[in-house]
Amino acid sequence: MEKRVFNFSPGPAVLPTAALEEARRDLLALPGVGISILEISHRSATFTEIIAAAEANLRKLLAIPENYRVLFLQGGALLQFATIPMNLSSGGANPAYILTGTWGNKAMKEVKAAEPTVVWDGKSTNNSRVPTQDELEVPADAAYVHITSNETIQGVQFPVEPDVGGVPLVCDSSSDILSRPVDIEKYGLLYACAQKNAGPAGVTIVIVRDDLLERSPAELPSMLNYKLLAEKKSLLNTPPVFAIYMVKLVTDWLLREIGSLEEMARINRRKAQLLYDAIDRSGGFYQGHAEPGSRSVMNVPFRLADAALDVPFLERAAENGLTSLKGHRSVGGCRASIYNAMPVEGVQALRDFMLDFCENNK
Ligand code: PMP
Repeated sequence: MEKRVFNFSPGPAVLPTAALEEARRDLLALPGVGISILEISHRSATFTEIIAAAEANLRKLLAIPENYRVLFLQGGALLQFATIPMNLSSGGANPAYILTGTWGNKAMKEVKAAEPTVVWDGKSTNNSRVPTQDELEVPADAAYVHITSNETIQGVQFPVEPDVGGVPLVCDSSSDILSRPVDIEKYGLLYACAQKNAGPAGVTIVIVRDDLLERSPAELPSMLNYKLLAEKKSLLNTPPVFAIYMVKLVTDWLLREIGSLEEMARINRRKAQLLYDAIDRSGGFYQGHAEPGSRSVMNVPFRLADAALDVPFLERAAENGLTSLKGHRSVGGCRASIYNAMPVEGVQALRDFMLDFCENNK
C-alpha cells in the first residue's frame, strides 16, 4: 500500500486511520447487510441506525442536552452563513457579529435581508486576537450574536466563549468542533462543516436549541428551513449518506480510542505547544500570527522571517513526508493544521524538521 504522509491540510483534512480502514474494509458490503454504504437507501433500517448512531455519538461526546436538535445538512458551512440569518433573524431584529478573521467576515456577508451590527472587528489588529470581554457590547435586542470559535486561516481561537448576555450565541465551529469540550447550553446554535475534525466534506453538523426553531419563517424554501429539517430528522431529501457514515466512524474512534473530549483537548494542547514552542524559541526565524492568548490549538499559521525561504521550507518539508503546510493564499507563509486525527508523532516530526531547518538556514 502507498505510504501515508503526515498531512497538515486545513480541510478536507487528515482522518483517523482506524476510521479509514474500517470504511475500506466494509466498502463492498456492510457487515450483515451485503450492500455497500454507497448503495443503500437512506430510508433503510441500516442507514436509520447509522444516522442515529452518529447523532448519539455527538450527543455523548459534546453532552448535547435534550432540548437541542442535531441536524446533518448539505451545502457546507457557507450555506449555513446564509441559512442562519434567514431562520433566526426573520422577525425584524438584526443580528450581531464578532469578527476575528476571514470566515466570520464571510459569514456576515451572507446576511442579505437584515442589517448586521459589528460588535467587534479584529481588522485593526490584523485579526491576531479575540476580543476581551470588556471590549464587547452586544445589543440586547440582537436576533443573535455570531462568533467563529476558531478562525482557520488566522489561527485565532476563543479560549472560552464570550459572555453575550441573553442573546442567542451562534457559533461557526467548523475547525474546532470535537477538539475540546464545550458547554452547549451557552449556545443557541453551533454549526460545523465536517471536513476538518468530524469527517469528510459533504455534511455539515448543526446543533440548534428547540425554541429557536420556532423562528423559521414558513415561506422559506424547505431545504433552508431549520424547523422542517429538524421535523424530518435531516431526511427531508437524500442526505449525504457516506459522509454521515464517516462521521459515525470518526466519532466511534473518538469514543473508543480517545475516550472523551477532555482527553482529546489535552492531547491537542500538547501538540499545539510543541509547535508554538518551536516558533517562540527560534529567535524570530519563525513568526507566529496570533497573539499568545488567542492562539489556535488547531491551526498554527507562521511565517519565515526571510520570505525567500518559504519555498525551500515547504519543499524540504514535503521531501520529509510533511505535506500541505502552505499558508492560505490570503495571508501567505505557512500553516500547520493539527486536527484531532493528526497524531502526536506527526507534530513531533514537524517540530524536529522546523528546528533542523532553522539551524541550517539562520
Ligand atoms: N468556516 C470555517 C471556520 C472554515 O474553516 C471553513 C472552511 N475552511 C468554512 C467556514 C467553509 O466551509 P465550507 O467549505 O464547508 O462551506
